[in-house]
Amino acid sequence: MKDDVMDMYIEAGRIASEIREKGAGEIRVGASYLWVVEKIEGWVQDAGAGLAFPLNVSLNEDAAHDTASRDDERVFSDGDVVKLDLGVHLDGYIADTAVTVDLGDHPLLLEASARGLDAAISIVAPGVSVGELGSAIHGEIESRGFRPIANLTGHGLDRYRIHTPPNIPNIRQNGGAVLEEGMVFAIEPFASTGTGHVSEKHRTEIFQQLAVKPVRLPSARRVLEEMRPRKGLPFSRRWLSGEKLDLALSTLARSQVIRAYPVLSDVPGSLVSQAEHTLIVTGEGCLVTTA
Ligand code: MN
Ligand code: MN
Repeated sequence: MKDDVMDMYIEAGRIASEIREKGAGEIRVGASYLWVVEKIEGWVQDAGAGLAFPLNVSLNEDAAHDTASRDDERVFSDGDVVKLDLGVHLDGYIADTAVTVDLGDHPLLLEASARGLDAAISIVAPGVSVGELGSAIHGEIESRGFRPIANLTGHGLDRYRIHTPPNIPNIRQNGGAVLEEGMVFAIEPFASTGTGHVSEKHRTEIFQQLAVKPVRLPSARRVLEEMRPRKGLPFSRRWLSGEKLDLALSTLARSQVIRAYPVLSDVPGSLVSQAEHTLIVTGEGCLVTTA
């Protein structure tokens, strides 16, 4: 990896880490969900960086992919387990990081995902397989009496690309891709009191352009025009200004110009915690950019 690219990853990570910590402090009982999301996203702009994806704030059994809608009236409640997942980029070089804020009394659940992340990071080095990382995560979560979410994984990162190979499993697995010096990826264990599997909810606020195709519908053309500077990074419905957005987005999704990211949830009544860092594999081990 070239030094200037490494520097961009490190600086994006530094910004993301600082805003993650400051942002976690804004999540309090009674605070408005929309207000918190817009405030934290604003800090990223203020830092001179871009959002690699809309700020994900997912509550309780929702593991990922929720964010505020424009007219969101939700407030954080006593007992909520809140996953704050932030993506920052500098010229396309991404830092992806998450923390869980406990507005209830679930210290062991938070510890499970955090220790899973630490355990995986501690063994990252060239020659280690992603299966070994998954085994380390699984052990930490299981030993505390929870289930890792099997169908969510960490992932490689590349310039303007949020999900590239290899996937980093959160469960025990033999072998798989072998880590090499210079790889950049995010590790993100999820610990759950539920089944350890997420499924898609109806609610969808986050989208991503997949293809460039001619589109006739004027509202759909406007969406693509407005999101062109994203260069394929995910965007939020909340960021769009046009009319007839539901029709535009559903038309674009049906023709596979964009993909939808529905909220992903374990079973109702369950609680999910998450911890995530981005790292670069070095000759000896790794450098955690979002530490
Ligand atoms: Mn993330
Ligand atoms: Mn991620």
